This record gives sequence, structure tokens and C-alpha cells, in this order.
Amino acid sequence: MKLFDNFYNMKVGIVDLSESSSAVVPLDDQIIAEKIGGVAVNEDLFKRYEDDDPLILGVGPLTGSFAPASCLSVATFLSPQTGNLCHVPLMLRIGPEMKFSGIDFLVIKGSTSQLKILHIEKGTIQVFSAEYLVKLAVPEAVQTLRKKIRHSRSIILAGPAADNGVFHAAVSMGVWGSLDKSGLAYWMASKGLKAIVFNGTGGLPFSHDNLAMGRKMVKDIVSFNRFRKEGFITILDRIGVESEVKKIIVKSKKKDLACYNCPFPCMSYVEFNWRDPRLKESPKIKEGTFLLDHTGFTAMARKRQADALVLMKECLNLGLDTSAVAELLPQEGTLETSLDFISDMAKADDENQVAENLYQGDIPLDKYVLFGSGIPPISPGDAEVDSSFWGKRVAMSMILGVCPILMLLFPNIHIANLLKFITVKNDDLESLQAIISSRIQSILMD
Ligand code: SF4
Repeated sequence: MKLFDNFYNMKVGIVDLSESSSAVVPLDDQIIAEKIGGVAVNEDLFKRYEDDDPLILGVGPLTGSFAPASCLSVATFLSPQTGNLCHVPLMLRIGPEMKFSGIDFLVIKGSTSQLKILHIEKGTIQVFSAEYLVKLAVPEAVQTLRKKIRHSRSIILAGPAADNGVFHAAVSMGVWGSLDKSGLAYWMASKGLKAIVFNGTGGLPFSHDNLAMGRKMVKDIVSFNRFRKEGFITILDRIGVESEVKKIIVKSKKKDLACYNCPFPCMSYVEFNWRDPRLKESPKIKEGTFLLDHTGFTAMARKRQADALVLMKECLNLGLDTSAVAELLPQEGTLETSLDFISDMAKADDENQVAENLYQGDIPLDKYVLFGSGIPPISPGDAEVDSSFWGKRVAMSMILGVCPILMLLFPNIHIANLLKFITVKNDDLESLQAIISSRIQSILMD
């Protein structure tokens, strides 16, 4: 038996949007042996199809497994914003649903003037028209899609801002938003791709021993001296956000939420009361929203503390990157003028409205941008660890298919222990360690 037999379907989906065609082909054993998975295989596939300006989606060997936070799929493409290759992490249930839908990697090439949806289940890919979703707000589009396509468990959607060709559009995973700050939604819309829908009905025969290993690893996480289970606030704390901003969440938080098989919820559902100033005689109503974008929320709260949650929700509804909106939103203004600004921003591609990446932390900017500019700049809080820690840790997670945020929060999760999910034989482990170290270096171009 080969090392990765239990961890992949060994299938790659190839979609040509120009022809509305799809095929599923075997995944080359050799690529997996040399690259292990996730972002490293994505890069390889990207190079093979480079002339077609492709989008590659891929999972790692541990995606969907008993390893903690095994939720990850990675989108690799040429960022329209930087012109360079970038890798956007997709969490929640996207990775496991993709793997359990029967494919491990997806290559999307070509373009079409009529918007399309890709529906993937049981190792097959169907290409449907998406015209009925054009310009619908994200919640409405997701609801409509769920009615049209049965068992549409995980959805990657380009919202109305992307339909309008807006540069700072961001994809939404269902209605939750995403960490897309590199133009994935813009890329999708420019090729005529409206949504990718996974229906993961299958599973893979992960070894029973992996279950016990997963439980042991969760114990290690809980025993870490900086373990604090406060949902979204925990990450704000770890990235040094001021208390005025954190107070907004303290006041509005209803519950914390986690992705697939994650023992540490870092997202929260919040509620707020508000009155829509754009409507005459609007009653005060209670609304709620999901928060998973820590840096986007922080940027918005710093700009408009009192209205941050309402404005976040508006960005999510229209499929806009909150960080870019927060940067471009005028400092002065009322809730009404701010909502109008966001609505106008989602309607028209304005070449003057280009936000700069204002990140100024310790992590080298090129590494931060390489992984989509949305993964929080969490430092291990250990003077011994240098600034290369963040990039190496994120690259490792993106190869194996586990959440980079969890791996940054808990530096006590050792790579050797993650690799033991794949093999416990010393020789194999040593060779896997060597391969992953060289892949990390190559991805980071160190
Ligand atoms: S750490 Fe947060 S983003 Fe990562 S898997 Fe857990 S809940 Fe999801």
C-alpha cells in the first residue's frame, strides 16, 4: 500500500469554462510523492496549465481527516491585485466537502461570457448556467442556489460586487464571507465563474489509530499555556487589537463557532440592533452576522467603531473585502453616507478605488501577500522565534490541509506529530520531513 492511499481519492477535476466541459483524470502518484499535497501540488498544477491563467483548488493529505482543524482547501491563482501567484485559504467545511465529493484537486481554465456554476459530487463535475444568480445579494444567492441544487453543502460564491467587476470583491463561503483579499472573486467573475458547489457524500478510510492521535493532539492544544477559548476575541487579543475594538464583540457576541473538526472556535456570531437610515420610518430591528475575518473587522472598527457591525454585514451581503472598504471609506460621514458609499462601491468598478495593502507588522509583507493577506499576523509570543516562523507555519498547514490559524495559535503542535497521521514508520517519517521542509522553502522562495 502506498503512503497516501487513505488520504486522497487520487483524482483531479479539469474544467474548461470556454467549452462548458469537464473531465476527471487520475492524480499522478509521483506528484504526491514529491509534493505531498495542498499548496505544493497546486503550484505544480498551476505551472502545467500556466498559459491558461488557471485557478487551482486543492486539499492536503490531512484535509477531512481526524487531525485537528482539518478543514482546509487552498485556492491558487495569479492575483489580479499583485500580478503574482497567491494562495487563499478556504476553511469552514470547504476542504472536507471537496475531498468527499470525490476529487482532490480542481483545475479551472478558459472563460465564458455566460456565468457558470460548477457542481461537484461523487467524483463528477457538472457545469450549469448561473444567470439566475446574477447581482443577487449573497444571502439571497445562497438561498436560491440551495433550492436549485440539492445537497449543495459547501458553496464558494462570487457575489454581486464581483458581477459588477469590482476590484475589491471577495468570495463568500456560503453566507460567511472569507479571507479572500487577493482578488479570487474578481478572478472568478472575469472568467464567468459564479460559484463552485461541493456535495461531499463520500468519505475516505482514514486509519482508526488516527482517531486516538487526533484526541491526543486536542489534549496538547488545551494544555498550551496560552489556550483561551473566547472565539473571535481570542485572535484579536493575539494580534494586539486595542480594547475599544474588542469591546464591540464582547457586547454583541452570541456564540462562538468552529470549522470542521476544530477544537478551538475562532469565529463568532454577533447580534446588533439598528435602524436603516436609508428607509423612511424604518423600525429598529435586531440582526446578526458571522465574523471570521479578524483583520477586516479590526480595520472597519478602527474606522467606524459605532457602526462597524452594520457595515461589516453590508460588505458580506454585497461580497466586498471589508479591509479594502474600511480603507477607502471616508473618515467623516454618517451611517447613511457610509452605507451609500459601500453600495456604490459594489455597483461599479472604479479604477480610482484601489486600496493599498497597509499591513505593517513583523511578518515580511511578501509572505503575508503570498497567502492572501487575510490570515491574521499571529505571533507565537516567543522571543526565540524569528519572523520567518509565520510563513513557515502557514506554508506547512497549506501543504498538509490543516488550518493555518490554528497552527499559528498553537506552536506546540509539532509537524512530526502531524505527519504521524500519515505514517508512524521512522524511515517514512524522516523522508516526509525532508520533503515537506524542502517544499516549504520552495513555496516561500527562501
Ligand atoms: S482556528 Fe478558526 S479558522 Fe481555523 S479551523 Fe479553527 S475555527 Fe476555523
